[in-house]
Amino acid sequence: MKSKQKSKNIKWHEHKVTQLDREKLLNQIGVVLWFTGLSGSGKSTIANEVAYTLYEMGKLAYVLDGDNIRHGLNKNLGFSPEDRDENIRRICEVSKLFADAGLITCTAFISPYKKMRDFCREILDSSRFFEIYCKVSIQTCEKRDPKGLYKKARDGKVKEFTGVSAPYEEPENPEIIVDTDKYNVRECVEIILTKLRNEKII
Ligand code: ADP
Repeated sequence: MKSKQKSKNIKWHEHKVTQLDREKLLNQIGVVLWFTGLSGSGKSTIANEVAYTLYEMGKLAYVLDGDNIRHGLNKNLGFSPEDRDENIRRICEVSKLFADAGLITCTAFISPYKKMRDFCREILDSSRFFEIYCKVSIQTCEKRDPKGLYKKARDGKVKEFTGVSAPYEEPENPEIIVDTDKYNVRECVEIILTKLRNEKII
């Protein structure tokens, strides 16, 4: 997961305006809300609603979404194991920068492997990383099938599809669990905002 430092003779510069200054300006704490779960579990939907609710409260959030990132920053990456790792590594580093900028950064990626999620947890201060597990049964995901991908996976038209023909490693100790079988979108958003309030992030 960790990539080697290629360049030599580089030096870290401390800047005059600090993360704390930016956070004071924004009246919030820069964090990463890392949504993980099966395709169709509700990551994008809930992340978007969280960002919108925060926006209405005057808080600045930004959603990094899987497919969107593959249109730009990660357009040169495919789905080989190495490319998947590099995809997540870059997203982790971008999330870290956004959190440093003071934003409430929501990431919506299946991120099926624990080691990838742990990498992000490692490179961030642990108080700034919230793993949010969108927990749901595979049956519900198949029923929702918002992108028609489960059908394609069952028909063998999409290979290595998480939950069908590729594994999903459940989070062992996520900061937040939202059970989208049990709770509707609004209730899930409330669970997340309550945690952020309790942790004095907002
Ligand atoms: P993911 O980003 O995890 O692939 P999406 O957010 O794209 O999932 O799709 C989830 C689908 O399930 C959406 O069509 C959404 O409207 C629907 N849905 C139904 N109930 C819920 C819920 N409780 N939480 C989130 N999404 C839900």
